[in-house]
Amino acid sequence: MAVHLGRPPGVPGAGVNPGVELSSTFHQGGPVAYGRDGNPTWAALEAAVGGLEGGTAVAFSSGLAAIAAVLETLPVPGRVVVAGDAYAGTRRFLADVAQRGRLAWRGADVADTSATLELAESFAGGGPEWGGFGAGGLLWLESPTNPLLAVADIAALAEGAHRLGMDVVVDNTFATPLLQTPLDLGADVVVHSATKFLSGHSDVLMGIAVSRRPEVVDALVDRRSLHGAVPGPLEAWLAVRGVRTLAVRLNQAQANAGELARRLAGHRRVAKVRYPGLPDHPGHHLARRQMRGFGAMVAFEVDGPEAADAVIGRLELATAATSLGGVETLIERRARWPHEEATPPGLVRMSVGIEDVDDLWADLEAGLGILQ
Ligand SMILES: *Cc1c(COP(=O)(O)O)cnc(C)c1O
Repeated sequence: MAVHLGRPPGVPGAGVNPGVELSSTFHQGGPVAYGRDGNPTWAALEAAVGGLEGGTAVAFSSGLAAIAAVLETLPVPGRVVVAGDAYAGTRRFLADVAQRGRLAWRGADVADTSATLELAESFAGGGPEWGGFGAGGLLWLESPTNPLLAVADIAALAEGAHRLGMDVVVDNTFATPLLQTPLDLGADVVVHSATKFLSGHSDVLMGIAVSRRPEVVDALVDRRSLHGAVPGPLEAWLAVRGVRTLAVRLNQAQANAGELARRLAGHRRVAKVRYPGLPDHPGHHLARRQMRGFGAMVAFEVDGPEAADAVIGRLELATAATSLGGVETLIERRARWPHEEATPPGLVRMSVGIEDVDDLWADLEAGLGILQ
């Protein structure tokens, strides 16, 4: 599906790839009239990602634009229970809207199913009479979480939230649809920063939301037209081009991540390694059941922020930069950002790329070697 969905019909002589449709307006009488409402290159990307997630996809100009669109469909005042270590931008968006009285929100430890559902219960119900998406409250999940790599039991949480009348969103950026399909586990909406693994080359910003509920898809398309957070056609083309190689990139990056996590866990200067593929990870058995692989994100802790900065400063192959999901290994001390109060100060987050694993290990070993 990643390789073939979203290609134009196989007419003799036609291109095998979708084109980059650069028109802002279209001859009248067709399905799309104006470039803020639709574009054939977006449609190619949406076909590919929608097929992989098992729903209908709506592309946005960034991951946060997709997240904002989903949250903007909530009736006012909205009520949201969110993974306490969810992507900082999601939490900042919630805090911003809450400050203007449009919703109330609480952070939950989503690795703890019963505690999360208890918190959700205190928040559920009492929505507007006309109902609609999120009217009974919303549970916003990430799994694995960023950057603590905790694993949430999506099926159990979705079932519990639905029993409370709440709707469920999963940010599937870390896992990608190749490793986990939250709509199959009961989620109502999946969001992606397609900037990351889906595009895969750190050269484009893109977001996607996917749902099987037609009224939710319609509401998201409306948000996109009304707010104007539309992808550029060239960016959409780069993103769908990235999706074509997702499987091979992810397989290689994931194999590297598993090997580096094992080696880091045996290093005497590393206090803790967080990777769901390690047997002593608290979510390991759940991840085995819920995911088709453990992904390419690894976090490890050294003794404090100075030590972490010193190690990162010494690396020559891994690039010190934020973001993730590209073919190149990126590394950062996550707590250097605001809104990361829950992140241990010496935690190093690594988005493992597709380089040779021994080259990556030699680089990390040399970096850690300065901690004597
Ligand atoms: C990067 C990221 C986002 C935000 O996406 P942008 O494309 O940067 O707007 C949302 N969720 C997660 C998990 C991310 O890593």
